[in-house]
Amino acid sequence: MTHPTDSNVSLFERAKQVIPGGVNSPVRAFAAVGGTPRFVEHALGAYFWDTNGQQFTDYIGSWGPMILGHGHPEVIAEVQKAVLEGFSYGAPTEREVQLAEAILRIMPSMDMVRLVSSGTEAGMSALRLARGFTGRNKIIKFNGCYHGHADSLLVKAGSGLATFGASSSAGVPADVVKDTIVLEYNDIGQLEEAFAKLGGEIACVIMEPIAGNMNFVRASVDFTRRIRELTREHGALMIYDEVMTGFRVALGSAQSLYARQIAGFQPDITVMGKVIGGGMPMAAFGARREIMEKLSPLGPVYQAGTLSGNPIATACGLKTLELISQPGFHDALHARTGRLMAGLKQEADAAGLPFSVDHQGGLFGFFFLPELPTSYPQVMKTDGKVFNKFFHGMLDRGHYFAPALYEAGFVSSAHTDADVDKTVEAAREVFRTL
Ligand code: PMP
Repeated sequence: MTHPTDSNVSLFERAKQVIPGGVNSPVRAFAAVGGTPRFVEHALGAYFWDTNGQQFTDYIGSWGPMILGHGHPEVIAEVQKAVLEGFSYGAPTEREVQLAEAILRIMPSMDMVRLVSSGTEAGMSALRLARGFTGRNKIIKFNGCYHGHADSLLVKAGSGLATFGASSSAGVPADVVKDTIVLEYNDIGQLEEAFAKLGGEIACVIMEPIAGNMNFVRASVDFTRRIRELTREHGALMIYDEVMTGFRVALGSAQSLYARQIAGFQPDITVMGKVIGGGMPMAAFGARREIMEKLSPLGPVYQAGTLSGNPIATACGLKTLELISQPGFHDALHARTGRLMAGLKQEADAAGLPFSVDHQGGLFGFFFLPELPTSYPQVMKTDGKVFNKFFHGMLDRGHYFAPALYEAGFVSSAHTDADVDKTVEAAREVFRTL
């Protein structure tokens, strides 16, 4: 519980004077769940400690990057070495080539990648590339999928076909989002209608393969297959935003999982972030050669960055990719995450609560709903009050889940069965209070 002498409270008050909302990214402010955010003092392995010295088991992991847990010694050693060699040069380095090669070895859908510094930048650049490659303007995105805060992707979901975007943020001119079409996730009928009406004008469909920004919602195999068929048929590109799923749900990312079920499946452009930087600012987008060669300096699509391919971030990312490429890494992560989900489900059932769970690799979602949702409106049927009570009950007991019901959760290889079991024990107590 927070109290006036709590240093999180005083820090939050101070922060609010100088930083809007006291935070540098909105979800950190606990706006959805209420209460005071925990200011992190340091982190190690599966835990972090706040400025009061309270320890938390961390199920956010910086929202995805910390797949090895915090402060992995081998990663730290690489970063320390890199720091001594210089922070940033604005000139190419061998490690950028090595990181590009490492990504391409893991993901056969791409022949080339470009490194950038955030998922937002990668998504925005992928979109420009798709428009530049096809010479078309219209894009399709799905309700509940987040692709960073580029203007034309910040569009409130309108349900129904061809609901042309009304921006979900002030400061985005209507003209900028007039070419963004928002459809419901997993709705094949809407998709077919959109392509029947506008097929020749659509530059791309951008999607999260497993949506981690409306908690955890899988795209069905049929939906994914239909997107692939329709984009091919109409000369549009399919952009897979794997910023969250990439290297986390499987080594080969979500595309490797769907390729097992859809023969020959590959997206045209892949957007990556989070894990490839191992906690440093690093993201990327890639595609086959004919698409990537449209990028400056080879082609007419402009894209650039002062800190792109930063030498410290590439050192961190390379070591992270090497360590997660060890055989069995993702199977073990999937099993550990599954243990957590099965435990929560069992305890929620015992407490007589409606509850559903899903997970893949080190990404998970749980819902206070009897069935797993398949779209954003279904996710939003969750009882927010029950979720918030659960969140705070767990937080008080030292278990840090995402502070909003529409966010996914993350398990790292530093979490042990014992960590997970302690969390399940705490959940047993909390479920009984709901
Ligand atoms: N795409 C997806 C799927 C994401 O989850 C996020 C961030 N959570 C982004 C893009 C944006 O990445 P960043 O916050 O690094 O700009």
